[in-house]
Amino acid sequence: MSTESAGNRRHHVVVIGSGFGGLFGTKHLKRADVDVTLISKTSTHLFQPLLYQVATGILSTGEIAPATRLVLRKQQNARVVLGEVIDIDLQAKTVTSQLLGQDTVTEFDSLIVATGAQQSYFGNDHFAEFAPGMKTIDDALELRARILGSFEQAELATTQEERERLLTFVVVGAGPTGVELAGQIAELADRTLEGTFHNIDPREARVILLEGAGAVLPPMGPKLGGKAQRRLENMGVEIQLNAMVTDIDAHGVTVKDSDGTIRRIESACKVWSAGVAASELGRMLAERSEGTEVDRAGRVIVEPDLTIKGHPHVFVVGDLMSVPGVPGQAQGAIQGAIYAAKQIKAGLNGQSPQERKPFKYFNKGSMATVSRFSAVCQVGKLEFGGFIAWLAWLALHLYYLIGYRSRIVTVIQWFVTFLGRSRGQMAATEQWVFARLALEAINDSEKDTADSAGRADAASKSTEAPAGAATANGTAEPGNDESMEGRDEKKVSDRKAG
Ligand SMILES: Cc1cc2nc3c(=O)[nH]c(=O)nc-3n(C[C@H](O)[C@H](O)[C@H](O)COP(=O)(O)OP(=O)(O)OC[C@H]3O[C@@H](n4cnc5c(N)ncnc54)[C@H](O)[C@@H]3O)c2cc1C
Repeated sequence: MSTESAGNRRHHVVVIGSGFGGLFGTKHLKRADVDVTLISKTSTHLFQPLLYQVATGILSTGEIAPATRLVLRKQQNARVVLGEVIDIDLQAKTVTSQLLGQDTVTEFDSLIVATGAQQSYFGNDHFAEFAPGMKTIDDALELRARILGSFEQAELATTQEERERLLTFVVVGAGPTGVELAGQIAELADRTLEGTFHNIDPREARVILLEGAGAVLPPMGPKLGGKAQRRLENMGVEIQLNAMVTDIDAHGVTVKDSDGTIRRIESACKVWSAGVAASELGRMLAERSEGTEVDRAGRVIVEPDLTIKGHPHVFVVGDLMSVPGVPGQAQGAIQGAIYAAKQIKAGLNGQSPQERKPFKYFNKGSMATVSRFSAVCQVGKLEFGGFIAWLAWLALHLYYLIGYRSRIVTVIQWFVTFLGRSRGQMAATEQWVFARLALEAINDSEKDTADSAGRADAASKSTEAPAGAATANGTAEPGNDESMEGRDEKKVSDRKAG
């Protein structure tokens, strides 16, 4: 274990997370008389709103995820530490992070926690096996490989039934991410892949958008939701509302309709964009600060100055904070982080925590793209859709993309994609689909091994091979003659057997 002592030095701010909250909080301290350590488990600043474009072959990961270290290169008072935070000691004022088994303890005077949210399967974590979410770069690349892989397998399918299953894409959740993904999968099939296969016509692909509520884009209201729905339907996307997903397996999705009917949709490629849960650190902070609670999604119910009870120097911002009226969107994270940075600077100038003015969120509106040249947009009471909304969406996303290089390359990629039919990022490898599953299998088998080693006599076990090693290796190197879904299923059964 190494200890990063604050020692004889300036006020030390530790920022956890390199998303919108973490990055904007750090940047806002650039000219302050402080040292900043940004600790994150990912080495990049990920622009999540464009993940779906990586998944559908429009953008590469570099455009939406520049290395945090490079972004902060010119900020003299900031340094970046890669590692997953596993402990926050509020009394000792230390943060413990871990990288490949090595623990690092970092002392802080002020702390900004911006670890965001992760995909939630509402207690059905086994769905993740068959329907990846959309929160990380790995998710997006895995999904790209699954989407393109389904077309490739359909080309080789020997029965009509199998072909149809492979050409049916199910997106669960009709929020902005679900709408954007469904629209892009449809455009990919209709425009980019059209005429590129011999045995199948990609335009025959079915894209089904399932939503448990009664409307598309529920938070944006009926007018914009209706516009988005009509546009998607014109593109051939099948929208099924009041449809609750009750099970997902390798071969398809089980759905319960509002009248109680249970039905199956046979589908090889499923995507989950139906829910999020706050990062685990939220619960940890709540448990350790008396009187602080989390909401149902695990977000920390913060004080009016975004701190936790009894710890005026510990701020929680972004998707991890629960503040009435502040949505889990980039603007909420950016504004919260800037507010926290301002309070830290004011504190250095002698302001006491009691003098802080409460955090006020300024709602700049929300938007979602539906297809090329079409988006929906809500700014205050103004609601509009179509081409103008799409241009506004384009400009706003370019503005918030980090770095000139990313912006220029993104404009070129968009030009190629939206005006032409081609897409620049159509690479996909088998490993993108299977790496996560293989790693999970290895972790499971390591856990099994540790459990059995703990139970058994250490001496007698020392000569035995680890129980799950063969399974883990086997799943990491799949054979050539199984379908993708078949392999998924095999891994699950391997794991269950292991
Ligand atoms: C697919 C998708 C589309 C979206 N579209 C939009 C949109 O169009 N408009 C909009 O406004 N918002 C959108 N959002 C929401 C927006 O991206 C989030 O609200 C925003 O990213 C929240 O910022 P954050 O800093 O709180 O968390 P994040 O951006 O999620 O960052 C969290 C950071 O914490 C790090 N981290 C997590 N746990 C740990 C740990 N234990 N130790 C160390 N580091 C850790 C992560 O690696 C990451 O760097 C979208 C989100 C997704 C997933």
